[in-house]
Amino acid sequence: MASSTAAIFGTTAASDSCSRRVFVTTTFQVRALHSYPSFLRTSRAFNTYAPCNNSSVINGGAAALVTESSAKVIDGKATAKEIREEIAAEISKMKESSGVVPGLAVILVGERKDSATYVRNKKKSCESVGIKSYEVNLAEDSSEQEVLKHISCFNDDPAVNGILVQLPLPSHMNEQNILNAVCIEKDVDGFSPLNIGRLAMRDREPLFVPCTPKGCIELLHRYGVPIKGKRAVVIGRSNIVGMPAALLLQREDATVTVVHSRTKNPEEITREADIVISAVGQPNMVRGSWIKPGAVVIDVGINPVEDTSCSRGYRLVGDVYYEEASKIASAITPVPGGVGPMTIAMLLSNTLTAAKRAYNLE
Ligand code: NAP
Repeated sequence: MASSTAAIFGTTAASDSCSRRVFVTTTFQVRALHSYPSFLRTSRAFNTYAPCNNSSVINGGAAALVTESSAKVIDGKATAKEIREEIAAEISKMKESSGVVPGLAVILVGERKDSATYVRNKKKSCESVGIKSYEVNLAEDSSEQEVLKHISCFNDDPAVNGILVQLPLPSHMNEQNILNAVCIEKDVDGFSPLNIGRLAMRDREPLFVPCTPKGCIELLHRYGVPIKGKRAVVIGRSNIVGMPAALLLQREDATVTVVHSRTKNPEEITREADIVISAVGQPNMVRGSWIKPGAVVIDVGINPVEDTSCSRGYRLVGDVYYEEASKIASAITPVPGGVGPMTIAMLLSNTLTAAKRAYNLE
């Protein structure tokens, strides 16, 4: 996957200048509950998960404590909804007091259906919280110059606070050139080297934190999972997920090990972790035997696997073998319904931050 948020908004060609259309059993579980008291207060923690269905996490409060697994489900879908509501309330107040409406622009090149779906979802989410969305849809054979021209227009437009270029771009375009053209103050995806550099340095603050890793940490915070002094393993080191997730955990004083495709004994290393974040893209790679009893598992992976019992012929699974890991971990995110919805919520959050900054409303 080439981009987190940029990979998760849609369609029609605009060639004229600046046009817009614009995630029970035994003794360790009891220990885990004591370690993470906020689970006891969080009805979302008592959920069940059924595959094949986006609404697989059933919000039924404590009465729904019917699960073969011991782990609490870290419900990204419900948490993302909560965050969207918070953002909507803030935007509504902002609009009332200062007339400011945050704006997010998305540039989509080509006609990939998945990209169009991502763009549509982002657009819907923007609307739901009161962010104005702007869209440019360019044909597959558009030139790099055309994309750059639209980025330049959005850079100059004060109504636009965040800019996303939907990835992947057609192969004839230089992705780095294009992403570098987005001005840093509007880089709500947080992928610019300056943002990542600041994230990596002590006593520096990035303007924006990349949305998917930010969503992982937000889930840990909202579920009261302590990070400071804990051992964390991040599996995967991509620029958009693994690497920034490791930097974020380190900023929160975890001791972090990064596992990648050349790592020897990944299972042994991962089994030492109190917190595991997996962003690999390999279905069910992380088995139950990789997980330390009581660890917290955040599964970023979104992997389609063939399943003829599903109407669409496939279902989505994570990197983590959920049925095994959920019997050993103290808490785990499901796929779907875990990190995915958090990514979009964090994009909205970054856009709101950008608008507040632009209008000195922080
Ligand atoms: P990526 O760019 O392909 O990176 C995969 C990483 O996993 C690489 O660092 C690679 O190591 C490592 N890796 C691959 N095989 C491995 C193995 N057998 N053992 C250990 N490490 C291995 O992928 P990505 O963009 O980070 O995405 C990863 C997954 O997260 C995908 O399933 C993607 O769909 C999902 N995703 C979800 C969201 C969301 O919103 N939930 C957002 C973005 C991505 P090397 O560096 O050595 O090659």
